[in-house]
Amino acid sequence: MTPDEFRRHGHAVVDWIADYWSSLDQRPVLPTDPPGSVAARLPARPPERGEEFDRILADLETVVAPGVTHWQHPGYFGYFPANTSGPSVLGDLVSAGLGVQGMLWSTGPACTEVETVMLDWLAELLDLPDRFRSTGRGGGVIQDSASSATLVAVLVALHRAGGGRWREHGVERRHRIYTSTQGHSSIEKAARIAGLGDEAVRTVEVDPGTLAMDPAALRAAIGADRAAGLVPTAVVATIGTTSTTAVDPVPAIGEICQEYGVWLHVDAAYAGSAAICPELRYTHAGLSYADSYCFDPHKWLLTGFDCDAFWVADRAELIEALSILPEYLRNAATESGAVIDYRDWQVPLGRRFRSLKLWFVLRWYGAEGLRAHVRTGVALADRFAGWVRADERFEVVAPHPFSLVCFRLRAGTGTGDTGDPDGRDADVSGRDADVDRANAELLDRVNGTGRVYLTHTRVDERHTLRLAVGSPYTREEHVAEAWRLITEAATALPVRRS
Ligand code: PLP
Repeated sequence: MTPDEFRRHGHAVVDWIADYWSSLDQRPVLPTDPPGSVAARLPARPPERGEEFDRILADLETVVAPGVTHWQHPGYFGYFPANTSGPSVLGDLVSAGLGVQGMLWSTGPACTEVETVMLDWLAELLDLPDRFRSTGRGGGVIQDSASSATLVAVLVALHRAGGGRWREHGVERRHRIYTSTQGHSSIEKAARIAGLGDEAVRTVEVDPGTLAMDPAALRAAIGADRAAGLVPTAVVATIGTTSTTAVDPVPAIGEICQEYGVWLHVDAAYAGSAAICPELRYTHAGLSYADSYCFDPHKWLLTGFDCDAFWVADRAELIEALSILPEYLRNAATESGAVIDYRDWQVPLGRRFRSLKLWFVLRWYGAEGLRAHVRTGVALADRFAGWVRADERFEVVAPHPFSLVCFRLRAGTGTGDTGDPDGRDADVSGRDADVDRANAELLDRVNGTGRVYLTHTRVDERHTLRLAVGSPYTREEHVAEAWRLITEAATALPVRRS
């Protein structure tokens, strides 16, 4: 493809994306075709001869689009958001066009330096402790995902706890990692990849009201493990757990980590973006104790996947843990010690110029625009929670400090049960199962409309619906439509007699 052909077809692709975004509201949020449908629309064999670009573009609409889950749809309320935006896509396009592989400063000075400055900018926007900034002993790096950030944090924690032996001799099975019962599955995955196995992960009890980690239970677990000759190595605290956005008490957890010399990693994958708003920064209390911290601009900060921002308080420790310098990577800049080689801050060697999309996003929206986006999400979630609370058939089941609301039908709607709204009489398990079934059916019916998409979790062992606001296209009318569909579906649920 010549540069001129690229220019022509590139304009057509940008037009296609702009048309896609403008028409999102007219598409069903979820694809409805059965599994295998997209694959069946693709030829079984690759083309022998090159094809016209127009034909490729046309097939986007007929082959691909019908199988797309529309994460940017204004009625998309599932999981956590995965925002993207015009400046993010354009930044990524430039990155793809440059085709830079920035494993070393010398293979991509701009790729490295823009990233360092963007992570310092983000640290300032979130008001992170100074110790994370590159101007001191710390620094930030872009990982592909929060899962990779947790893995890297666990590896450096092992390096520290093993007094450097881990690098030479590998892992000792005595290391233990702590997170709450609500911690993300990536923590177990990190333990597996690190060679510790699932049994190394201790899940610490939570406060039943807030679902946040109970620091007394953490202290007891660390104390018991030490007494048994095990090595408490890392605690992963969460700001905004995946199920309900619970916020672990990081100040109390941090004190315990400090007392026992345990690495503290704070995972704020989704909720970290909230700290761009001063009024939500209280959720980040205690970060000065953290050895590492991460959040995903690719969730709630209008920056397309993949973009996890990860900081350490002591970059020397991280580099010592992960650096290997074969002859073929040696170069004068590295040897001068004056540059950052981000290959030492992550698992892969190669890396894309991901900071370009951040640079574009931060400049296009400014702090003001990003704050407005977060505030819109929080306000819409508040509005929705108010409607849920005002309807006696429903309950809000957990605090909602950010833009996620967890709620469910109470006993009595679609369950054939009208008494004992707490479900605490003699037939509790039968009643709970009925309520679970009613909530699951409600979710199916609402998602079946094609207008909205919500997902579920379990809270107190009970089926719970989650509505996460986050698409940049979501307005109050879309949240109101979701609530209307939910209440209509609740009214239409059949009354069961168990
Ligand atoms: N940590 C938390 C608290 C999450 O909620 C999630 C995903 O929702 C993750 C980690 C994993 O994120 P990623 O897809 O960036 O690995």
